[in-house]
Amino acid sequence: AQNTIAIVGRPNVGKSTLFNRLVGQRKAIMDNVSGVTRDRHYGHGEWTGKYFTVIDTGGYVHGSDDIFEEEIRKQVELAIKEADVILFMVDVEAGLTGLDEEFANVLRRTDKPVYIVANKADTHSRGHLSGEFYALGFENEIFPVSSQNGSGTGELLDAVVSHF
Ligand code: GDP
Ligand code: MG
Repeated sequence: AQNTIAIVGRPNVGKSTLFNRLVGQRKAIMDNVSGVTRDRHYGHGEWTGKYFTVIDTGGYVHGSDDIFEEEIRKQVELAIKEADVILFMVDVEAGLTGLDEEFANVLRRTDKPVYIVANKADTHSRGHLSGEFYALGFENEIFPVSSQNGSGTGELLDAVVSHF
């Protein structure tokens, strides 16, 4: 893997929305069809002259919140194997959930850099809610972003490409 970023996290936090923003194209399947299984998707992006590959890892049944331990492990192990930097996405609107903790438990096994991306921080006041996720115990700074309107994504990318 060279300059590869993987986005992991539970369903509906906004992984595909961020993926599309980072690759500048609508390459991920943004289906609204419940029950459609999607494979991981690869896209390419650039930031401050540095080129990278992004993996959207949401390869499970869309619309279902009850994903299982085995799927979490599969998704995270794929990310750990293929990526140089891992974006662990959570959702400030929903707050910290049990599934987030399950992802965190698997992610703690890697020495690769993990950045918690606190998505749906659409407004400044919502961004303050991102502090809650320091409880997950990762040492890096947490980046509040809105994948929808783009706020915070520049700061996130500055940190990510510093590894490339
Ligand atoms: P995924 O399942 O993690 O890939 O999540 P999606 O990218 O499919 O997004 C799930 C839902 O969250 C969709 O309805 C998105 O429009 C919404 N969403 C994604 N990013 C944001 C954001 O920054 N703010 C808000 N308010 N909604 C978002
Ligand atoms: Mg998705």
